[in-house]
Amino acid sequence: MKKPELLAPAGNMEKLKMACIYGADAVFLAGKQFGLRAFSDNFTLVEMAEAVQFAHRMGKKVYVTVNMYPHNSDLIELPRYLRSIRNCGVDGVIVADPGVFRMVQDTIPDMPIHISTQANSTNWSSVRFWEDLGASRVVLARELSLREMTEIRRSCKAELEVFVHGAMCISYSGRCLLSNYLTQRDSNRGQCAQPCRWKYNLVEEKRPNEFFPIMEDDNGTYIFNSKDLCLFDRLPELIACGIDSFKIEGRMKSVHYVATVVNAYRRAIDAYFADPQGYQPKQEWLDELLKVSHRDYTEGFYEHKTTEEDQIYGTSSYQQTHDFVGLVKTATDADGYATVEQRNNMKVGETIEVFQPNNETFTQVLTTMFDENGEEIAVAPHPQQIVRIKFDRPVEPFAMIRRACKKK
Ligand code: SF4
Repeated sequence: MKKPELLAPAGNMEKLKMACIYGADAVFLAGKQFGLRAFSDNFTLVEMAEAVQFAHRMGKKVYVTVNMYPHNSDLIELPRYLRSIRNCGVDGVIVADPGVFRMVQDTIPDMPIHISTQANSTNWSSVRFWEDLGASRVVLARELSLREMTEIRRSCKAELEVFVHGAMCISYSGRCLLSNYLTQRDSNRGQCAQPCRWKYNLVEEKRPNEFFPIMEDDNGTYIFNSKDLCLFDRLPELIACGIDSFKIEGRMKSVHYVATVVNAYRRAIDAYFADPQGYQPKQEWLDELLKVSHRDYTEGFYEHKTTEEDQIYGTSSYQQTHDFVGLVKTATDADGYATVEQRNNMKVGETIEVFQPNNETFTQVLTTMFDENGEEIAVAPHPQQIVRIKFDRPVEPFAMIRRACKKK
């Protein structure tokens, strides 16, 4: 049984580092050109080279998305861009468009090519098509059941990548123009405004200012609003199926989200391979997935086609049980103090939770805090202020400090 790769989103350098440190085997990112997610920070070529060096030092891989559907004018710069990302040392490119696929093969022929989920590969014949052309990996559409994935696995040799966690489109990925029509932001260029999550009313042509509610229940109607995908409970089945890469979605999500979700999946995959027969997912790992901002979870198409149970009709808001309040910059010294960058206001006297890449999570009361000038403070007043905090146990650099959300 082959251990699958755990693949995480890297919307910027900090997220890339956190993904690697918290347990991803590989990350995917976009350059400033030719990738989707135009509003995540994305990487310049200099940053990309630095990112690859960082990841490779940790034994991790970096894949770059080149998965937009370019128009003729976009193609002029593409060969130069492809040579540049090859020179950065990336481990593969993710493409959707057959024209881009051909240009990658012509320009940087040794580069492994992954077929993006934007290509909507939903059957073994599609996967074989790409495999015959020389693709090394195909990212399967999210709209497949385990039975279909198993059939594809048996019929094809290419590596298969499957989304295990993250947001779902209400359409096939990339086949939606809602955002283009309603906001002029092109979802196929990474600019989706997510209008599928908006609240809709009915308007009659001759009464333009009267909004007639279309009600599923008392909360209103969010007719296109999907729950988020979570296949955490299905990891053993997906491993047995022979999936090569488990993908976490969310280049726009926070560092806290990336670290937390990656780490939960890392722990589960490692525990499974340590003892496949005795494996049981721990409640504490599942609880981790509730701490970050998310919509209700669904297993999507995993067992059967989706129903109304897989959508959220009553709200478009997110939920989470914890807030991310600080990032540890240095390990604790001999007196138990560590330097922390505040990310959300911290106060002496409140209970904090320390979440670490390698060591166990623990809670404590924040008892003592100093500012940059060595003055003892009760509250850190500035965003991203650097403070010194006394910890009850040793903490590692890149540990995260959280606080339970106040109950509403
Ligand atoms: S509007 Fe919703 S379904 Fe359409 S592309 Fe954007 S996220 Fe996906």
